[in-house]
Amino acid sequence: MRCARCWPASRPAARYSRRPTASHRERRTLTRVIDDLRDRLTRAQKATHDAGIDALLVSPGSDLRYLTGYDAKPLERLTCLVLLADGDPSLLVPRLEQPAAMASAVGSLGLAVVPWDETEDAYAIAAARVPSGAEAVAVDNHMWAEKVLAFEAALPKAQWRLGNDVLGPLRQRKSPDEIAELRAAGAAIDRVHAAMAEWLRPGRSERDVGQDIADAILAEGHATVDFVIVASGPNGASPHHEVSNRVIQAGEPVVVDIGGSLASGYCSDSTRTYVVGGEPPKEFADYYAVLQAAQQAQCDYARAGVSAESVDALGRGMITDAGYGGAFVHRTGHGIGLETHEEPYIVAGNTQPLELGMAFSIEPGIYLEGRHGARIEDIVVVTESGAERLNTTTHEARVLPG
Ligand code: ZN
Ligand code: ZN
Repeated sequence: MRCARCWPASRPAARYSRRPTASHRERRTLTRVIDDLRDRLTRAQKATHDAGIDALLVSPGSDLRYLTGYDAKPLERLTCLVLLADGDPSLLVPRLEQPAAMASAVGSLGLAVVPWDETEDAYAIAAARVPSGAEAVAVDNHMWAEKVLAFEAALPKAQWRLGNDVLGPLRQRKSPDEIAELRAAGAAIDRVHAAMAEWLRPGRSERDVGQDIADAILAEGHATVDFVIVASGPNGASPHHEVSNRVIQAGEPVVVDIGGSLASGYCSDSTRTYVVGGEPPKEFADYYAVLQAAQQAQCDYARAGVSAESVDALGRGMITDAGYGGAFVHRTGHGIGLETHEEPYIVAGNTQPLELGMAFSIEPGIYLEGRHGARIEDIVVVTESGAERLNTTTHEARVLPG
């Protein structure tokens, strides 16, 4: 049962004026963003309450951004949202970070912002905002160890929990606006893949190709480049190879796995495998056909109600039946949102049913050590009618000219 004092029912409207130059459309968008953030804070507070947690402490990272819109720098000085099961939340910030915090959505949220001065004990200030007698306190999963230990010292009687128990279920189910951001990110990375022939050619190094791709990721609308994998020939058998000085040879398969984040923080991630300047080895064509069929079957099968692990099992079974089971060395996929890798994980052992609004990758791969490899990766989102692919460039192993 939710406490009557729970935030934000009693909070006043935004206390800080917006930029006077904002257009009507910008103001409407900002209002919607603020309404969404208030809703997230309310739902997080209820989930904290329902989980029997007295306070949730959230340091800079995607959880803080999800709840407040503040993309705070992760620094040694403590910035921390103190979200109480019962009572108003507050955001503790170093005084010198206060202007940056207020310039973010936090400035319009009506959230109490508590600056602390350079010589004060920030952990004591945060701990004082946690009700005395609090039994269970959660920290966000990515909080630095030094901060966790300082909080343990400041709240010696608390039992410690992981914040993801509360925030994971919220973040996994994307809202329509979040899906729109992921769709835009997917379209942007698709445009980079569509133009791959401009950069990926035999005679060039993986590093030079990767630099051009990174430039294109930004040019197509991402705010950051998160990773660029250009894995040619034998490097393609290493799933997380990045780039090297290796010069790409004619007829080689090349695994290209790329992603970035939009200004909103939402991520893209898509892999295609190319062949450059000639026909691929026959064994590559053989296993690529198996991989393509498996990945397509997984995309067709994924829908609300089926378990995450059953999506993995379907593709893994097809690849295993074709004799390549030992060469598919990783899970099928990962959730995506404000982080490239987040829940739900599409892996054996994860029995959770897929739900509407979940977004994740379907990316089986086959890797032949010392020879070459292949992966096909799409981001999909669970809809009423199945799973919508947010990456729509061809699944064929495109043969690019030499
Ligand atoms: Zn991925
Ligand atoms: Zn990827």
